[in-house]
Amino acid sequence: MKEKRKKTGHLPGKTKAFMLGFLMVILFAGAVIFWQFQKRVLSSLDMQAEYSLKSVSSQNALLAEVRIQDRKNLLRAIANEIAESEPSVEKEVLTTLKSYAENFGFYSMGIVDQNGICYTILGETLDLSQYEYFQKTMEGKEIVTEGYLSENRKNEVNIFTMPINRNTGEKMALTAVYRTEDFLKMMDIRSFDGKGGSIVVDSKGKLISGVSGSIPQVVLDIESYLVSQEKDQEEENRNGIFSVQSSDTSYLACEEDLSINGWKLVSFVEEDYLYRDTKSLNRVILLLLLALYMLIAVIAGLYMTVYHRFHKSRKYYEEMAKRQAENRKVEKEFKEALRKKEFQVWYQPKYNMEQNRICGAEALVRWMKNGKFQSPEKFISQFERTGHIVRLDEEILKIVCQDIRDEKKKGSAMGPVSVNLSRMNLFRRDITQRIWKITKKYNIQPGELSFEITESDAAQYDKEDLNHLVDKLHDMGFQVDIDDYGTGSSNLKSLAYTHFDTLKLDRSFVRLIGDKKIDTIICSTIYMALQLHMNIVAEGVETKEQAGFLERNKCFTVQGYYFFKPMPKELYQKTMDNERKRRQ
Ligand code: C2E
Ligand code: CA
Ligand code: CA
Repeated sequence: MKEKRKKTGHLPGKTKAFMLGFLMVILFAGAVIFWQFQKRVLSSLDMQAEYSLKSVSSQNALLAEVRIQDRKNLLRAIANEIAESEPSVEKEVLTTLKSYAENFGFYSMGIVDQNGICYTILGETLDLSQYEYFQKTMEGKEIVTEGYLSENRKNEVNIFTMPINRNTGEKMALTAVYRTEDFLKMMDIRSFDGKGGSIVVDSKGKLISGVSGSIPQVVLDIESYLVSQEKDQEEENRNGIFSVQSSDTSYLACEEDLSINGWKLVSFVEEDYLYRDTKSLNRVILLLLLALYMLIAVIAGLYMTVYHRFHKSRKYYEEMAKRQAENRKVEKEFKEALRKKEFQVWYQPKYNMEQNRICGAEALVRWMKNGKFQSPEKFISQFERTGHIVRLDEEILKIVCQDIRDEKKKGSAMGPVSVNLSRMNLFRRDITQRIWKITKKYNIQPGELSFEITESDAAQYDKEDLNHLVDKLHDMGFQVDIDDYGTGSSNLKSLAYTHFDTLKLDRSFVRLIGDKKIDTIICSTIYMALQLHMNIVAEGVETKEQAGFLERNKCFTVQGYYFFKPMPKELYQKTMDNERKRRQ
């Protein structure tokens, strides 16, 4: 009997689901924690980076103012000196101014009289009377101009002016001219390891110099951003920090107000440089996260493998222990049953419908356990599992042989009795010797005994062993039936290669007689058996219709409740006697 095998060596469904769930929770929690950690760390780094831009920008603004103030202070001191000097020394003054210009990088310096006529150290005489910066200077203001094209239109310049108030009441002005290029250099405070710089824009965001070829692209982009912002009247965000894309590089810039002309100093830096720590930390965190996940995966894998192995071997040992316990129990019960002679043999007559007579019987075991019959269906499969079936078959064979001998002594024959031989017997090398010994002991003649063997696809024995057993039984003079024909998968092959004498059609087919397809199969099977010169016996015949169908189709030998049920030896003998009497 086939037994459904429980799957072993695998994690039980519940544990597997739990493990999977647990792993998912860990992975999810890990991801969330890392994500939060990363967010916090990165945002604090971002803040730090922006803070550093902001503070560098303020420092730059301060420095720019200091530089302008320095120039102003210088010019104020010169203006005061000139104010106190005699009017006749103007020529000498220009000479002095020349040396200041050389020392402080002025392109030109000059003195403007109250009519706006300017005498420069370059020997020029210029009329500045129409210039606003001159007029304002005359009003006493200290001026630093935006980029102007110089009078000779050769240079773009920024002009510092300083009023000169002479003791005489005469008002004059001192001018100091920077080439815008030099002025910007003075204001460009390189910072961030050369990855950033600063520029000066007016209140509208325009560079205080006009456009010149030497101005880098990023500066122009910052200017156009600021001008467009100014147009949109948008308030700057992030404390004056804004980002500008220039070519392939992103820049962050920060505006700071200067105290001159409403100007602003804009410090800028490459974003990559500013966020270099954030980026590298981000990479480190991602790598760490990846490493953590890999570690979890490895640990989970190891755990699963170890658990799997442990579980497998535990299951194996558990099953082995269970089987051993079952074996011990069965062994004890089996020995007890043998000792108490609880195993009995009942006989189920086989009937020949053509000759209208009993033509033999099948020997079927009955276990009278504690006064109750146990169903063979139940204990046979257990004995097959524990191996006790072999000893049981031997016991049944002995009883049957004994019965045949006893009846023979009384002068009556039992007819050929078929004894079931479990396929487990095929694992016993000495099976044929044992059968030979028993049949010899009871002097059983060929024709008095036959054997039934069930074919099965589940049997793990060698087909050669089966052929060998069948041939040996033939040598001893006994016939062999293939039992339960139609239920195993290799029956057809067995018919071809093993020399069975009788085909016992399984009762599961007989029960379905009346079904067209089954009828066809049965007819074909009967035909095939006859063609192979085999006898055929139909098992489990329960109705007149079944019997009629089989008879019509030339299967004359039947076994089933419709004719006889299994019965004790005495009743079987009585039934045989009655029949003999009926026939006489
Ligand atoms: P089996 O070899 O196919 O034996 C025939 C079974 O069919 C017997 O059941 C018998 O009582 C039952 N049977 C006979 N006619 C009818 C019928 O018309 N209708 C129905 N429903 N059943 C019918 P049993 O005695 O319960 O035996 C069951 C199985 O146990 C046997 O099937 C056989 O495989 C096994 N078995 C019985 N005795 C032995 C034995 O001594 N040795 C071995 N190895 N197996 C045995
Ligand atoms: Ca049988
Ligand atoms: Ca059978």
